[in-house]
Amino acid sequence: TTGVETFEFQVEARQLLQLMIHSIYSNKDVFLRELISNASDALDRLRLESLRDENLQADTSDLHIAIEIDQESRTLTVRDNGIGMSHEGVVELIGTIANSGTAKFLKELRESKDAAASADLIGQFGVGFYSSFMVADEVTLETRHAGESQGTRWVSSGAGTYTIEPVDEAPQGTSVTLKLKAEDTEDHLYDYASPWKIREIVKQHSDFITWPIRMAPAQAPATADEAEQAEEGEEKAPELETVNSMKALWARPKDEVTDEEYHEFYKHISHDWADPLETIRMQAEGTFEYQSLLFIPARAPQDLYMQDRKRGVQLYVKRVFIMDDCEALMPEYLRFVKGVVDAADLSLNVSRETLQQDRQIQLMRRRLVKKVLSTVKDIMSSDAERYATFWKEFGRVLKEGLLGDLENREAILEVCSFASTHDAEQPTTLRGYAERMKDGQEHIYYMTGESRSIVESSPHMEAFRDKGFEVLLLTDPIDELWVDAVPEFDGKQLRSIAKGQVDLDSQDEKDEEAEAEREQRQKDFADLLSWMTSTLSEQVKEVRLSSRLTTSPACIVGDTFDVTPALENIYRSMGQ
Ligand code: ADP
Ligand code: MG
Repeated sequence: TTGVETFEFQVEARQLLQLMIHSIYSNKDVFLRELISNASDALDRLRLESLRDENLQADTSDLHIAIEIDQESRTLTVRDNGIGMSHEGVVELIGTIANSGTAKFLKELRESKDAAASADLIGQFGVGFYSSFMVADEVTLETRHAGESQGTRWVSSGAGTYTIEPVDEAPQGTSVTLKLKAEDTEDHLYDYASPWKIREIVKQHSDFITWPIRMAPAQAPATADEAEQAEEGEEKAPELETVNSMKALWARPKDEVTDEEYHEFYKHISHDWADPLETIRMQAEGTFEYQSLLFIPARAPQDLYMQDRKRGVQLYVKRVFIMDDCEALMPEYLRFVKGVVDAADLSLNVSRETLQQDRQIQLMRRRLVKKVLSTVKDIMSSDAERYATFWKEFGRVLKEGLLGDLENREAILEVCSFASTHDAEQPTTLRGYAERMKDGQEHIYYMTGESRSIVESSPHMEAFRDKGFEVLLLTDPIDELWVDAVPEFDGKQLRSIAKGQVDLDSQDEKDEEAEAEREQRQKDFADLLSWMTSTLSEQVKEVRLSSRLTTSPACIVGDTFDVTPALENIYRSMGQ
């Protein structure tokens, strides 16, 4: 194809762009971090490709990022000589915002009337490349995929359409050129055409990028002589300087790195715009050496429950990026953990399949999982508020671990918390529950159901309320599943109050008199019970007298091994 083609943005992309153009996001500087982050990813990818594919026609001799500023025309260019994009890649990745979280995000935005809150939402969503439109009237992207001869140019002012055309003489990699908004010139602080400002942003947000980020040295204004030479066309391109320190954060001594640096790094790898909740450093020496830098985000990403989510823990081998979302290093139920693991002794050619089998990787994973769980426990005991945030965002995911991870079940149970009849607002830990158990109470009681109010008003609850026994109120769908898999905590059985015979009387209360009375009642009601059992035979297995109710006349109980009503609903909705 030749010539310029014009395309329209999808509705959702258009809405997102309007948001960017009129953005009141307080920290517009982040657009540069996003562009540098993309360039860095592209360099990582090219290096990896060239290691794997000897026939790749690509120049990897001087991989770097360059930032060019033209103050006259007020343009800013971020250039890399990385993997680049094919024509299809540009259409797919830049022309559309196909991310499944987009629609949900935009809906939330429309619903939030508060301007500050919506700016905050932008940060939560992290809109990468499109954040350029916070500071630019027009964005031009030129790119050539390594190994291909034809390049592609993409241009847009963000207002509804973009153009794509082929270019013949494109260098390998990608350049993004921003025509900076004029309105930003007034305030020097926001003048992105100022080399000082740009340097400052690079140092602040992207210092740890492991590729050189180069800029022309800060210069005094040209002298008359130099200006003359320039006119004669003799001006030499100035030697570029590397602005960032390029040190991999995870390889630096722990106490040398500031929280701020960790946070910027987190934003780079997670594509989140907010600070993480917790930073976890681990270094192992000896036969199998590795370094890891993990983060627990402060907020669940939009795609936490989606199939196609990506970017968990990245695997590096001796500083070389190997893969995103290395599932061999982190179980599903810790998929919210972000970060980097850098192993010293792995082959650069590892594949996802061989990793799963690798014994060293399995050992690493065990240690990482234990470290994450113990970190959550530390947060729990040191900072109730931060723990509450963690639990609100990731508790449901973490509970999935109770189903599969037998080895860490106790450790997971330790950091779980549940709503309970003990307190209307504050959830309780199992340990807290155990400490409050009454004399004569042997088990940990719970009831599952759709909501707190439904469960609390259940007739099953009456006898327990009467006795002053605390009951856990489990209302997450996942609760239905794990309670069947987990028999006990700390030597105490977990018992559903809605299943089987719950014997609330302790042994010494069962004197003979009471026993005789019970038998008598059983006789008195025998006819009624058998009549009810046969009349209701379609609906119930058995009708029996109960001492568990105090005010309700009757209630339905399941057999100990029956599925609960809520689980029945889950199965039904899955078509089983
Ligand atoms: P994200 O980085 O979260 O995927 P972005 O909006 O920042 O989202 O970028 C969208 C996609 O465009 C990237 O995933 C990448 O495939 C492509 N892309 C952006 N910039 C570059 C670049 N400099 N080189 C190669 N591909 C790029
Ligand atoms: Mg990006």
